Amino acid sequence: MASGGRAQDRLNRVVRVIAQNMVAEVCSIYLTRAGGILELFATEGLKEEAVHTTRFLPGQGLVGLVAERGLPLNLSEAPQHPRFVYRPETGEEVYHSFLAVPILRMGQVAGVLVVQNVAPRRYSPEEVEVLQTISMVIAELVGSGELVAPDELTEESTATGEPITLDGMPLAGGVGAGVAVFRQPQVKISRTVADDIEAEQSLLEDALTEMRSQLEQMLEHPDLAHGGEHREVLETYRMFAYDRGWQEKMRDAVRSGLTAEAAVDRVQQENRARMFKIRDPYLRERIADFEDLATRLIRIIQGDRENHKIKLTEDSILIARAIGPAELMDYDQGYLKGIVLEDGSTTAHVTIIARAMGIPVLGRVSGLLTHVKPGEQVIVDSTTGHAYVRPAEDVIETYRATVELQEKRLALYAAERDLPAVTLDGEEISLFMNAGLLVDLPSLDSTNADGIGLFRTEFQFMVSPALPKVEEQTKIYAAALDAAGDRPVVFRTLDIGGDKQVPFLPREDEENPAMGWRAIRIALDRPALLRYQLRALLYAAAGRSLHVMFPMIAEVAELKRCKKILQKEVDRLTLHGRTPPKAIKVGCMLEVPSLSWQMDLLLKEVDFLSIGTNDLMQFFFACDRSNPRLADRYDLLAPPVLRFLRSIVQACHQADVPVTLCGEMGGRPVEAMALMALGLRRFSISPTSIGPVKRMVRTVELHKLSNFLEAHLDSSDHSIRDSFISFARDHNIKV
Ligand code: PEP
Ligand code: MG
Repeated sequence: MASGGRAQDRLNRVVRVIAQNMVAEVCSIYLTRAGGILELFATEGLKEEAVHTTRFLPGQGLVGLVAERGLPLNLSEAPQHPRFVYRPETGEEVYHSFLAVPILRMGQVAGVLVVQNVAPRRYSPEEVEVLQTISMVIAELVGSGELVAPDELTEESTATGEPITLDGMPLAGGVGAGVAVFRQPQVKISRTVADDIEAEQSLLEDALTEMRSQLEQMLEHPDLAHGGEHREVLETYRMFAYDRGWQEKMRDAVRSGLTAEAAVDRVQQENRARMFKIRDPYLRERIADFEDLATRLIRIIQGDRENHKIKLTEDSILIARAIGPAELMDYDQGYLKGIVLEDGSTTAHVTIIARAMGIPVLGRVSGLLTHVKPGEQVIVDSTTGHAYVRPAEDVIETYRATVELQEKRLALYAAERDLPAVTLDGEEISLFMNAGLLVDLPSLDSTNADGIGLFRTEFQFMVSPALPKVEEQTKIYAAALDAAGDRPVVFRTLDIGGDKQVPFLPREDEENPAMGWRAIRIALDRPALLRYQLRALLYAAAGRSLHVMFPMIAEVAELKRCKKILQKEVDRLTLHGRTPPKAIKVGCMLEVPSLSWQMDLLLKEVDFLSIGTNDLMQFFFACDRSNPRLADRYDLLAPPVLRFLRSIVQACHQADVPVTLCGEMGGRPVEAMALMALGLRRFSISPTSIGPVKRMVRTVELHKLSNFLEAHLDSSDHSIRDSFISFARDHNIKV
């Protein structure tokens, strides 16, 4: 259990020297063992028998508190602190003042360094700085194995050689296979304490300048030349490179006597430790951005001015806790076939970049790093949310077959791109696509969609660190209109709140966020937000047609308030002599059931309606759409659903108001077939669904299908899915 003799001697020497230098009666080093337990590895001043005996569970005692927070703790009366835990074997009852700093290594708390004194006093900020600097040196020594044998501290890998399947959240769709490549801690700090502070200061400043110029060059990269979300993300990321707070912290660290590289590393360690404790996913994602910049900066300081490319020699799957967007571009893209992350979210910058590069990403895979070893075979299937590690031969075979099939199908859909979406009996179906990021826009042409039936404007807000300015919003909306040409683009105003958090609005813990303060409720309570967005939409659509749609409308009165706000913005446009849109069409989402009881009034107020079944159905069945236990509880091909939707569609047809369905349901061929049967003719679906749905449309005889549906609407069965599937099979419909 105890460290080997020489290592222990070295540790003992280290604590003695620190105690002397800090004029402290006690200096102790606690190191983190597997499972997060903090064990006293060496002490000067506490009883010797406590070494390797005194242990704190994660979060326990003051030492546990420092590890938990990843921040220093400076107390003049430690025993009075509510988290103080007395350990009799240490003999520490005589010491009052207490200063502890975390020993941080690669974003993790590797231990805690403590000094104590008998006299009650608060340690000065300089003393805190000095102890932090010392802890960095200790972190390096621990990492290099000079103080403790590394196997004493590392968690046992559970990689067993057996095939395993890991579950995760699909972040960017697709399937890929290759050998596991771990994201390398790409830099190592070689010098910690500055010999010449001024020289280090100028090293840091030069490196900052160089880093920025590298980023500017990266933005000129031909792959990014056409704009798009990935470019925008990198621009946001570039803004971080100019973050004042970050730079000042690094400058302070150099002033305190660290080398430039150690200063960057120290600030990054602090950032990381602090941010890993943040639960807010948006802020957590920013760790990767700063991480990326810090690595880049250290490389430059160490003299590597090349834009570092990471060579891959075979098909590879990148394995990491998190990774920054620019770092991803450092990997050889020809061989990068997939990414698996322990963290990550659909709006993480790296996800957006990967999506733009067509690389599948699976995120939120817990325990990932302990289950996979470098060089092992991994298959990422982010359509199903699985990663197969060391897959068995039959899985590899199945995967190969899946990919082949996928490629064949894609080729088929591509070949049918220009064929009309018309049923066998001549009924035309409009297929629009859903979009939200500029990176989605090229799909308009590749799928030959009829337009964008739902542009989720909130995505731009979710990837920006601050509220996007009117000009920035205008740019994106104009780009969408440019890409669509004569085809319509339906812009939905901000649907934030609920599960779509944005960084610039305070978040409150809501018992039931889906039914909480979200979408139009926020917009009506904060009309400035909506007004600026409408202004940007009006600017972007100058001289062209504008389709605006309001989300989560629960009653006609709400829609009327939105229309008033829109009218004010239109009036303002005239006042400022700006070109108005050629035409303005106003619509709303039907995703709250209450609205369906005001169809007569509603249809007088709108130019079009869009049924958002993702939300509508969760409220219809009182069934949380994000609760996995309820995922299969109710079927959307249930008679009450079809009756309900039919009544809405019929009301729209009678009033001659175009109605589109823009929920996920419409993108699934069997469901789309049922929706056509009940009268729906317009779908807005994800670009990848356009091929399969069009294929189904072209093989249907609609009048037969409608008769079939009518006969089943009175069924009291849980679902009529099986009957639909049999019908499709019997009538050769390609679903
Ligand atoms: C819906 O609710 O069906 C919808 C399209 O909106 P979102 O999925 O963005 O909530
Ligand atoms: Mg919705």
